[in-house]
Amino acid sequence: MFITFEGGEGAGKTTVLKLLHEEFENQGYDVLATREPGGIRISEKIRDVILDPVHREMDARTEALLYAAARRQHLTEKVIPALKEGKIVLCDRFVDSSLVYQGVGRGLGISEVMAINEFAIEEWMPDVTLFFDITPERGLARIDANDTREKNRLDLEDIDFHRKVYEAYLELVARYPDRVERIDADQSLEKVTEAARQALRRHTNR
Ligand code: C5P
Ligand code: MG
Repeated sequence: MFITFEGGEGAGKTTVLKLLHEEFENQGYDVLATREPGGIRISEKIRDVILDPVHREMDARTEALLYAAARRQHLTEKVIPALKEGKIVLCDRFVDSSLVYQGVGRGLGISEVMAINEFAIEEWMPDVTLFFDITPERGLARIDANDTREKNRLDLEDIDFHRKVYEAYLELVARYPDRVERIDADQSLEKVTEAARQALRRHTNR
């Protein structure tokens, strides 16, 4: 079972992923928790190249190709082997992030970005995708309030960029209703986690 976590900045998806990971393990499931871009040596290096704030000159298509390359390596080296062993894979971001960030945020076009990603992922798509829904204004405010990490290249984008990304996520939910579950992320961590739990139950009959 391949489960991906999606959403804008400050939506809390990484925190909920960690909580559900522990919970599933305690219930005796074999679970792999991982993230994109990154998750393995080569892809973490590509992540560093993409996110380094020094790389202001990075072309949007270069960025999209680097994400697709990082995704490919992570998928073949880590995700597919785990799925073949029957594990539950929880992945922080996947192809939907590219469709919305590079396809819409950068304006490259969803079908153009899908084309390079089809090359990268072949037939491997998530069984379920949880979209953590919070407006960029609210999400970014959460980060400002709690964040001590260094700013990455994407953190330098303005609110209009994040608005476009957010609208694009909402369209994805509408376009793939069978795969994408919308989670109201603008509530307490307990409630968000419970909503995610219930959405997964609906998909896995557990
Ligand atoms: O998931 P996380 O917040 O760690 O992602 C790191 C950064 O990469 C974020 O700023 C996110 O907006 C950006 N990103 C992107 N395009 C993707 C995936 C992530 O711009 N396809
Ligand atoms: Mg995160």
